[in-house]
Amino acid sequence: EATLSEQEREALLERRNSFPQLPLVNFSTQYALSVFEGLKAFPQKDGSLRLFRPEQNAERFKRSMEGILMPPFPPELFVNAVKTLVRQNKNLGYYPRYSDTWEKDGFLSGHSVYIRPFSYSEPGIGLNQSEHPWVVIVSTPVGAYFEGPNNKAITSDMIRATENGTGWIKCASNYVISTLAKKKANSQGYMEAIFLDAKERKYLEEGSSCNIFVYLKDGTLVTPALGDTILPGITRKSIIELAQSMGIKTEERKIAIEEVMDSAKEVFVTGTAAGIAHIESVTHKGRTAVFADGKMGELTRELLLTLKGIQYGSHEDKFGWMTDIE
Ligand code: PMP
Repeated sequence: EATLSEQEREALLERRNSFPQLPLVNFSTQYALSVFEGLKAFPQKDGSLRLFRPEQNAERFKRSMEGILMPPFPPELFVNAVKTLVRQNKNLGYYPRYSDTWEKDGFLSGHSVYIRPFSYSEPGIGLNQSEHPWVVIVSTPVGAYFEGPNNKAITSDMIRATENGTGWIKCASNYVISTLAKKKANSQGYMEAIFLDAKERKYLEEGSSCNIFVYLKDGTLVTPALGDTILPGITRKSIIELAQSMGIKTEERKIAIEEVMDSAKEVFVTGTAAGIAHIESVTHKGRTAVFADGKMGELTRELLLTLKGIQYGSHEDKFGWMTDIE
C-alpha cells in the first residue's frame, strides 16, 4: 500500500471492505501456538500471476507445525490451497497487474501479492499441544517493504533466539521480540535491527524478519550458518544458489560482528517481503561502518536485478523457481 497513490489506496480499501470479514477470533493466543508463512505471487507481462517457490513454504510450514507439535498440514494441500485462493482473487480483480509495476533506479518496482498462510491451535486452557489446528490463508496486494528514509541497521541488545529454542521455527511467539527490536531501531533512526547470538553476543544471526548476507572485501559472500536460532529463509537459500551460479564463492558460517565492521564491502538482507535490501551502514556499540559509500553495492544490485527479473518474468527462470497458479 505504501507506494499507492491516494486514489489507488481508496479504491483498494473500498474493495477490501467489500469482502466478508474473516472470523479470526482465537481463544488460545495466550499460549502462542501458532505458526505462519509468507510467500508471494508476481504479476507477469502476459497477464498471469506466478508464485515464487511455494513448495518451499509448504515444506517449512510443515516443519514449523511439527516444531510446535501440531499435526502437519500436507505440503501438496498447502500449494493447492494457495493456488486456489490466488486464482479466485485474481479472477475477481483484487490483485495488481503488470501495468502496476514501474522502473525505479533501473529496477522493476511495484506491486506483488503477499500470501499469508497461518495455523493456530483450537481453544483450550492449559499447556496442551494442538490436536486440531485451524489453517487460514489470506492474501493482500503489497508494495515495497523497506521504504524508510534510510537503509541503516543497528545491532540489537535484545535476544531473539537461544540454542535449543524455537528460533528456527516460523512461530508467532518469535515475532514479539522481532517487533520490539525493530520498533526500537526505528525509534533510534535505523531501518532495521540485527540480532546477535545469545551466548557470546558477538555473532550475526539475522534481522527482525530477514536473513543477512555480508560480501567481504576478499570477494566471499558469507551468511550465518543455519542452526537452532535462525529462520531458514527461502530467499536466503535462493540467493546462495544464485550467487554460486554466478561463480561467487559463498560460505555459511559464524560471522563475528567485528568482521562485518572491518571487512565488509557490501551488506544486504533478504526475505519474501523485503526481497533484497542493501544495508548502507551498521552501527554496533556506538561505532558505525558504512558500506559501498552508503549506496547499493554492485553484487547486491546484480543479485537483486536477477531475482526480480526471475520473479517478474524478464529473466529466464533457469532454476525452475516460478509456478503457475492454474
Ligand atoms: N528471518 C525471519 C525472522 C523472517 O521472519 C523471515 C521472513 N519469513 C526471514 C528470515 C526470511 O525468510 P524468507 O526468505 O523465507 O521470507
